[in-house]
Amino acid sequence: MLAFLQRFANAFELGTCWSCGYSKVAAASLCPYCEEALPRWYPRCCQHLSDIEQHLVAEQKPCRYWYGALRWEPQVQQLITQFKFRYKAELAPLLANQLAAHLRLCYREEPLPDCVVAVPMTQQAWRKRGFHQTALLARHVSVALELPYIAGGLRKIRAVPMQHMASKALRWENSRGSQLALQDFSGCTVAVVDDVLSTGATMMAAADALYKKGARAVDAWAVVYNQHD
Ligand SMILES: [Zn+2]
Repeated sequence: MLAFLQRFANAFELGTCWSCGYSKVAAASLCPYCEEALPRWYPRCCQHLSDIEQHLVAEQKPCRYWYGALRWEPQVQQLITQFKFRYKAELAPLLANQLAAHLRLCYREEPLPDCVVAVPMTQQAWRKRGFHQTALLARHVSVALELPYIAGGLRKIRAVPMQHMASKALRWENSRGSQLALQDFSGCTVAVVDDVLSTGATMMAAADALYKKGARAVDAWAVVYNQHD
């Protein structure tokens, strides 16, 4: 019934824009003005995150590429807050499409990775939130880019304290060894999807786990890159 009403609303453009509340847009989307005004990054904006030698321990290898689609500015903060903390899972396709469009630009001169995985969350956090936000994003991105999505490819084996409360050094310390890859990724290039990328500590925990299981290269993909953090 709900799906029917949604289709009906979409057909007649009876939804409201997620950002400004302007009516008459397709449901779960942005109006053309807000879509146009989204603060976007250029392709190589976060490549400097590879330069993290001081945080790496022996045998650690950084991600090959770091890509973030949107800037951490008020319009984007509002969308992410709705998505993550107000439990609006229906925002996943909107956010994932922004990332997919950015990635098409980033990889226009070379092949996309072989598969996509999501940054994992603990069972406890998952139950609390009611949905797995990075897995939802990763699924939508993999469909948009026609890549295989490896469900449950990474597992969180240790809870990490709220990262935005911790200092940078502590974030690296907390994240190290917190994730485990559950499959063999020998010879594969693997993309890891997260919602917000800041220091890169969480991504590096994912990359470590994937390199340990044979990944040839790991690429970091995030909907938002928070340059201020
Ligand atoms: Zn709008």
